[in-house]
Amino acid sequence: MKTVVSIVLVACFFALITACGQAETQGIFVENNPDEADVQEEADVQDEADIQEDSASNDVDEVIENDLPLSPFGLHGYYAVNFIEHMNAYFYRRPPFTYRELETALWIADTLMEIGFDYDDIEIQSFHFDDVADRSFWSKELLLMFELFGDREPRYYSQNVVLTIPGRSEQRIVLGAHYDTVHDVVGASDNASGVALLLENAMRMRYVDNYYTLVYVFFGAEEIGLLGAYHYLDTLSQYEREQIHFMFNADALFDGPYLVYLAGVYYDGRRTDSDLTLSWSALAREKYYSHGIELFTYHPGMYKWNTDHIVFFIAEIPVLYVAGLVREGDDSFGARVMHSERDCADYINYAWPGKIEQNMWAFSLFLENVLIQK
Ligand SMILES: [Zn+2]
Repeated sequence: MKTVVSIVLVACFFALITACGQAETQGIFVENNPDEADVQEEADVQDEADIQEDSASNDVDEVIENDLPLSPFGLHGYYAVNFIEHMNAYFYRRPPFTYRELETALWIADTLMEIGFDYDDIEIQSFHFDDVADRSFWSKELLLMFELFGDREPRYYSQNVVLTIPGRSEQRIVLGAHYDTVHDVVGASDNASGVALLLENAMRMRYVDNYYTLVYVFFGAEEIGLLGAYHYLDTLSQYEREQIHFMFNADALFDGPYLVYLAGVYYDGRRTDSDLTLSWSALAREKYYSHGIELFTYHPGMYKWNTDHIVFFIAEIPVLYVAGLVREGDDSFGARVMHSERDCADYINYAWPGKIEQNMWAFSLFLENVLIQK
């Protein structure tokens, strides 16, 4: 028995050394880092190892926030995690154009007022399916035929919840996260996570003397064709569109253990960089040195992930998109839980313990830094 215990202890010791060694060689905020590839053979098993590496290098408990004395709300991500848990428990399965989706929209508006915003700061922008249907692959008949409402009652209206925090400038930053889900999915990662990030960020930015006007848009009806995002942009005049400094999109923040951001401007038929997008890369590097946050970028994802930022991107508005993803090869990332029964807090906590807290901390901190740079 004693021998067995000794063998186990020795094995654990070597396993620990191996894990730490991988953590030290892990790439950071870089494109196409070839050093990463060789540790990605068995995706499912390896993902669990990845999260251990990330936990080792990104331990929330050990972080002292020392550079942003901006907000009275303590550790970044704390409130976001609470919002996720609430949506996971009480506002799960939120298909577009249903009463359930409306119920969630009203909860978002209520929460913003609880945070301290006035009724006048918040607009509920309602739209009927028929008014946006030409943007979708789906017709009403198909939605019913494929049971895309699940067990939720359809109403054929959806809505965006829009919060404006005025800044010194008329120029605005649009911050977006959709709150609907595919019909039979709880939607913790996709996309209670993005909603929660924006709710916490609004809470924090309320106390900041911000230069840019901040417009938070909680989009409805993303899952059947980015309909809320299209509707929002359609409501803006040409002048108002030109006032958008950039659009930030948060969608699926813990579909995997890697923190990923995609940035770009659509120009001449392709993604390109600008001083603004390059400044985010510099900020990502800075967050590694100041807080140990490892942010990867993955430019092909700009086209791969058909989510709300695409609507702004093709309108030639600079975009920044964040997600938590798994590695799928040398330089590719993928989603592991979205649009499946795995997309609930129980599974995510089981697969990647501590990851919800860790990702929300990192993204909350990163987003706040993005917004205060001028
Ligand atoms: Zn999504």
